[in-house]
Amino acid sequence: MVRSARAGPTLAASGAAPLASLPGVGPALAEKLAARGLLTLQDLWLHLPRQYEDRTSLAPIRQLQAGVAVQVEGRVEAVERGFRYRPMLRVALSDESRATLVLRFFHFRAQQAAQFAPGTRVRAYGTPRPGQHGLEMVHPSYRVLGEGEHGLGEALDPVYPEVEGIGPANLRKLVGLALERLPDADTLELLPLEVRDALQLPGLRDALVTLHRPPRDADVAALQAGLHPAQRRLALEELLAHQLSLRRQRIALQQLGARPLRGKGALVERLRASLPFALTGAQQRVYAQVRDDLAQPRPMLRLVQGDVGSGKTVVAAMAALLAVEAGRQAALMAPTELLAEQHLANLRGWLEPLGVRVCWLAGKVTGKARAQALAQVASGAAQVVVGTHALMQEGVAFHDLALAIVDEQHRFGVHQRLALRDKGQRDAVPHQLVMTATPIPRTLAMSAYADLDVSAIDELPPGRTPVTTIALAAERRPELIERIRAACAEGRQAYWVCTLIDDSDEVVAQAAQSTFEALTLALPELRIGLVHGRQKAADKQATMRAFKQGELGLLVATTVIEVGVDVPNASLMVIENAERLGLAQLHQLRGRVGRGSAASSCVLLYQSPLSAMARERLDTLRRSNDGFEIAEKDLQLRGPGELLGTRQTGLAAFRIADLARDADLLPRVHALADQLLQAAPATAAAVVQRWVGGAARYASA
Ligand code: ADP
Ligand code: MG
Repeated sequence: MVRSARAGPTLAASGAAPLASLPGVGPALAEKLAARGLLTLQDLWLHLPRQYEDRTSLAPIRQLQAGVAVQVEGRVEAVERGFRYRPMLRVALSDESRATLVLRFFHFRAQQAAQFAPGTRVRAYGTPRPGQHGLEMVHPSYRVLGEGEHGLGEALDPVYPEVEGIGPANLRKLVGLALERLPDADTLELLPLEVRDALQLPGLRDALVTLHRPPRDADVAALQAGLHPAQRRLALEELLAHQLSLRRQRIALQQLGARPLRGKGALVERLRASLPFALTGAQQRVYAQVRDDLAQPRPMLRLVQGDVGSGKTVVAAMAALLAVEAGRQAALMAPTELLAEQHLANLRGWLEPLGVRVCWLAGKVTGKARAQALAQVASGAAQVVVGTHALMQEGVAFHDLALAIVDEQHRFGVHQRLALRDKGQRDAVPHQLVMTATPIPRTLAMSAYADLDVSAIDELPPGRTPVTTIALAAERRPELIERIRAACAEGRQAYWVCTLIDDSDEVVAQAAQSTFEALTLALPELRIGLVHGRQKAADKQATMRAFKQGELGLLVATTVIEVGVDVPNASLMVIENAERLGLAQLHQLRGRVGRGSAASSCVLLYQSPLSAMARERLDTLRRSNDGFEIAEKDLQLRGPGELLGTRQTGLAAFRIADLARDADLLPRVHALADQLLQAAPATAAAVVQRWVGGAARYASA
């Protein structure tokens, strides 16, 4: 049984009342809160502590353990101020256990130092670490006690994520004020009781109160790990909200309807007959699914996952031909110009011999050429349009767009996919085919892409030899250079990929430049090229082309080569700083080699020493060539953020949930979403409104 949402919840019950409605919150304070995304009461309810401090008891100094945070109390024995490399204050405290602990400060005011007269009682909270003379606490939080002052905390102290310009005490007070406005449990609750019971989770009100004011006997370890029932309760509702939001999007889109494409597939047959290869079983299966989708009077919303090199492009081409056969248009959009150009070359090669007109539209198409392209797109003279996000700009009007194909979906922002969808006719939505080379484990896909049907091309074309992967410490570069020399002497080609994590394009470009110079010195007999994101598109393209045509033996590149580039003769790849990249990204990079019939290898260069986790990750890549298996492992080891590139998917906005940590909740979430959509759509809407709110439209499509 599902209880439906009561009609018209009040602002306060939904938590939507603005923070300015709290006593003492004027415009200046409201602005500081807003800068951190805190606008409504509910935002403060959900501004959960990042940590808890237990001040309900005192630990004897003699029993302190390194690394375990505690509260201690003692009298000042000695104070030392010094300037060794920087100003420093050391305060020795001792207590009745007749042991001494040093409090150490590197930043302090004179007045602060003066507080610690010998004999003063001090209570401090912190994590002891081994110091020069026994344990010490660096920058503990502390308080000087008056002589008669006793008493300990009643509850664990919450430590909130900081809000700039608002001190911790003040922030805690504000959260307290917001909590006073929590409605009663029934008013606040949206989840059916039997679900909470089945999972033994508390109601929302109880969960919030517990997390903000945990009782002194609360399971701190569970809280710190995010596994406390109160946290799981919130995660459940948040995951549900995202699931519902995507599913509602899908329903709304499908209700708009689409014109079915039901041709005989004559053009597709001609294409298949002209290909120099036979389709793999997986390609045939996925194409059949796509063809069935397209024959429906509602828009296809399908994601095709397939490892690099699995042959997604030809499936896209066949889908496009179904649109063309119906006398309508298809668009194929890729995230980079390089990749879009390659698609253009492929599609021209395959489709123009069949008499299909393929048109190119990218940012660098300007002036007269652009006007001409736009005219062809608008008149329908262009049957298949290939390009970058230039395809979605204002002013690009299709004559009759039937199918929008988006390659490497995770690189596109959600707004962009929406914009392409909106390029359809007024009365119907274009069918959508999304392709990605980042395999995602099934449960995750069901969450991340709940608005899409998912197919997998899980078979590589025959004749590919698997890539041998080895990990090598960076000190062994000289051997590696010899290996490149030998491979190129045999007419093979190699990539050298320079990566740095979280650096600007510019820094990576510099690193690539200096690697290029070093390799040019070391390998004078080789022709070496360089591509990075800071070059002009034309230069980049010229270098890529030269590499593709075999004029260059070695290509030094940044990850701009990550997607798309197809050079079958390249059989060796070196990836620098491999220990710092995500497995999925490494696997994608590695997919640039092993495209021909020669035995290929990939060398993962790392900076030693490797952490245990980094070793395990590199091992995973050495052992497996299967993108799905690697994705599972990446999920386990690093969490879903890396895998999905969450920032780009628009899925990032989880406040509490964590797809890896809370993965066991997902089957329940999916079932509950079904149930609510069927039996209690108003409750479903309220859950979405609470967690996703006005962002709902962009959360998925
Ligand atoms: P991806 O899935 O990474 O986009 P592509 O579509 O670029 O892969 O295909 C990689 C290469 O494999 C291309 O050169 C393509 O022509 C070729 N290819 C595609 N399907 C087959 C097949 N069934 N047999 C042999 N080669 C194929
Ligand atoms: Mg591709």
